Amino acid sequence: MKIKDIFERKKFVFSFEIFPPKPTTPLDRIYSTLDDLKGPSPDFISVTYGAGGSTRDRSPQIAIDVKNVYDIESLAHLTCIGSTRDEVVGVVDLLLESGVHNILALRGDPPQEAVSPFVGGDFSHAIDLVKFLRERYGEKIAIGGAAYPEGHIECDDPIKDLHYLKQKVDAGVDFLVTQLFFDNELFYRFVERTSIAGIEVPISAGIMPVVNKNQIERIVTLCGASLPKKFVRILHRYADDPRSLEEAGIAYATDQIVDLIASGVRGIHLYTMNKAHVARKITSNIETLREGFVNDKNNEEALL
Ligand code: FAD
Repeated sequence: MKIKDIFERKKFVFSFEIFPPKPTTPLDRIYSTLDDLKGPSPDFISVTYGAGGSTRDRSPQIAIDVKNVYDIESLAHLTCIGSTRDEVVGVVDLLLESGVHNILALRGDPPQEAVSPFVGGDFSHAIDLVKFLRERYGEKIAIGGAAYPEGHIECDDPIKDLHYLKQKVDAGVDFLVTQLFFDNELFYRFVERTSIAGIEVPISAGIMPVVNKNQIERIVTLCGASLPKKFVRILHRYADDPRSLEEAGIAYATDQIVDLIASGVRGIHLYTMNKAHVARKITSNIETLREGFVNDKNNEEALL
């Protein structure tokens, strides 16, 4: 099923993101993660694609297995960076033949050793990939796009960023998934701005439970997410106590999700970092809230 249709049928869509293991790590590792992620019944699982990186060859097969072995809807990430038109067609044809009809179209981040971010690729920005996919595959696929509640790190003008986002959506994006954030108020303001800009596709909120201190430095460098005071207090207090930090990180993410659901968010996309036990704990914390949507009369009618 296309994820566009899942958003049409359900008021609240709950999903996970996983990444392929490095080539030096046995591939089986991801399958034991998936064994554990199946239990919480996510509406879909997305599989990242290392732009120009060493794990990209593993991504399509994992995305296919999510669909065919685990019977969970699958969203395959695909990036512009380092991708030629022929490579994109090769990957998407394989996905379609294997029953995966959902692509998250991204620009990607260049590998650190690259001189130019666009070396070797036929597409500059995500919008170019979206246009290409829509022209070639029409409505056979659902296309997702990335969005940034705090603005993309390379763009110093939020209005320009929003303008490019609107163009990307108009080019054929069916739904958006956001960069992670730790301050829900920033997300609410962003959703308001997208609505004023005329962006009407569903927006799923990206939530990452922070469960170790090394993770946070990398995140802030990569995406520039701002850290609210209460979050920083947790990091300082439990930085050297891994078990407590994990518990606090799970509690913080749960708190964010409860607030987002109460505010009518269309979806939560949990960046699992392949830590299935963390994803399961968070899912179990919000089980009743998810059931609330299943039992909601209007939702049931929408499902008929
Ligand atoms: P774009 O939409 O192209 O935007 C990138 C920048 O260019 C922005 O600053 C934007 O304002 C600007 N821009 C957009 N269009 C134009 C234009 N026409 N002219 C001039 N400027 C323009 N990376 C990976 O490598 N692999 C993954 O699997 C992956 N998964 C991700 C999943 C999610 C949900 C998110 C939020 C990000 C993911 N990323 C991934 C990271 C992403 O690739 C980077 O954030 C990247 O820097 C931007 O990608 P984008 O698709 O948003 O790019």
